[in-house]
Amino acid sequence: PAPRRRDWQALAAGVLKGDRSAIGRALTLIESRRADDWTAAQSLLNHLLPYSGKAQRVGISGVPGVGKSTFIETLGTYLTGVEHRVAVLAVDPSSGRTGGSILGDKTRMEKLATDTNAFIRPSPSAGVLGGVARATREAMIILEAAGFDVVLIETVGTGQSETMVSDMVDLFLVLMLPGAGDDLQGIKKGILELADIIALNKADVFADKLKQSMRDYKAALHILTDASPNWHPPVVACSGLTGEGVAELWRTVEKHRRITTDSGERDNRRRTQRLTWLNTQLRDRLVEHFDADASVKAIRSDLEEDVLAGRRTVSAAVDSLLSAWTRPDKETGGP
Ligand code: GDP
Repeated sequence: PAPRRRDWQALAAGVLKGDRSAIGRALTLIESRRADDWTAAQSLLNHLLPYSGKAQRVGISGVPGVGKSTFIETLGTYLTGVEHRVAVLAVDPSSGRTGGSILGDKTRMEKLATDTNAFIRPSPSAGVLGGVARATREAMIILEAAGFDVVLIETVGTGQSETMVSDMVDLFLVLMLPGAGDDLQGIKKGILELADIIALNKADVFADKLKQSMRDYKAALHILTDASPNWHPPVVACSGLTGEGVAELWRTVEKHRRITTDSGERDNRRRTQRLTWLNTQLRDRLVEHFDADASVKAIRSDLEEDVLAGRRTVSAAVDSLLSAWTRPDKETGGP
């Protein structure tokens, strides 16, 4: 069970020491939807915030079966082998509905799951996408404060969750299968726009298709305008299974970090992300509050009927709803 109010200070001390059980309880606390847990969680996060921010944050995306967990297991093990401490988070908007997460599953990353320099956390099942985003960002604060210097955030290749993850990382890595590039029409342009690196995975079995695929992806990237004047997303090959290309890929990640740090883009990206997060969460919370308001609920369906029947304009209905709404005033929050 999540701790109550005053326990957050002990929890913060445990997190800062890197105590695994404290980290686990802190993560459970921020995922909780109880009002008193919310207050404790916010105190904890405020305390830990100054200790966060030092990690290299990498988003890893790709369709199911592309080899994400195998790749993360190999990359994570490589990184802990060279003195990094690696946290793996998953963003899976479907986990709440299906009841079981397919991402961040420890049984699919057996070596990393027992590695004392790694920490794997499956996707929070916080219901709505916005809730998953919040819990993931706040989990990142906790894990960074606990001393993890690499945070890998795994997500599936579906538009919304990819955009969400790319909005909380320094670098967005997209795994693709060689050969899938035979038909680049099928590749959503959106995902290429988000990618800072494209990795053609399973290079061990797709050797014959690799060269052509690399050319295809490079050509596809070529016609897009780069998000950064200093970085043109490279296409690399790797195999999560054999480990081939994985260390080279990490060197590319580090090169990206050096270049964007020197140019100030990394800092800028994080600032923009914070501002976007602030605005998104504000909007989400206002809408939640509005939807839950009793005075709004009392008249909403009648007004909807009026609008549907053409008895009232949409603007007039919105005016009535907004005047009925009891503003949040000084109430305390809650997810
Ligand atoms: P995910 O759904 O994206 O997490 O993919 P998984 O990591 O579970 O991998 C899906 C399947 O592809 C599994 O059977 C893996 O063993 C296999 N696989 C993953 N990576 C590679 C690779 O680099 N080469 C080969 N040949 N198979 C791989």
